[in-house]
Amino acid sequence: MDVIWIFVWISLLSCCSDPSHWAALFPSCGGLRQSPINIVSSKVHVNSALPPFDFIGHTNTLNITSVRLTGGALPGHYRASQFHFHWGGNGNPGSEHTIDGERFPMELHIVHIKEPYGTLAEAEHDLAGIALLGFLFEVMKRRSTTVIPNFRLSDVIPSSRELHNYYRYVGSITTPGCEQAVTWTLFHKTLAISSRQVRKPEFLKKRISKPWRTDG
Ligand SMILES: [Zn+2]
Repeated sequence: MDVIWIFVWISLLSCCSDPSHWAALFPSCGGLRQSPINIVSSKVHVNSALPPFDFIGHTNTLNITSVRLTGGALPGHYRASQFHFHWGGNGNPGSEHTIDGERFPMELHIVHIKEPYGTLAEAEHDLAGIALLGFLFEVMKRRSTTVIPNFRLSDVIPSSRELHNYYRYVGSITTPGCEQAVTWTLFHKTLAISSRQVRKPEFLKKRISKPWRTDG
């Protein structure tokens, strides 16, 4: 029994640290729509008919799940379920998406689930069930603007009129279980981060209250 437990433990370790092993344990991770992707700007189709987003309740401080989203050519209303950041170690760039091969210092993901679904598991059976918003960060020389004492989405995301330009594709959650029902929106507008924050991203854990999750 001990041997089996050790084997399972090692399997889980290798699964989750190396994406090439995910599909063995999570079949959806071998899907054709796996995110993240590299966006090749010369191959992007421009669609000026894509409407902007409307955020509802994004100035609330207490609970991200009270934030709702509509617009952006999404079919219905979506409720925010969680947000998290991806960053590299030792100050290396750690965004998941790249643009023309360029990796950015950090990436914010805000996961939304289509109403009336309550969980990712329910929503993944609807091809438009999950909407993920991604924001890339760039290092700015001036003092950081990303100080988040009582986290509100309105503290980090730009005003609605700056959210008109975005990349849209159909993909997946980027970590296991890799649900393949995600409408991805990656905004052109980048957010500011200081070089100090890139080197010590732990500041996010201290400043952002729950819900906090590092995967997805
Ligand atoms: Zn993510």
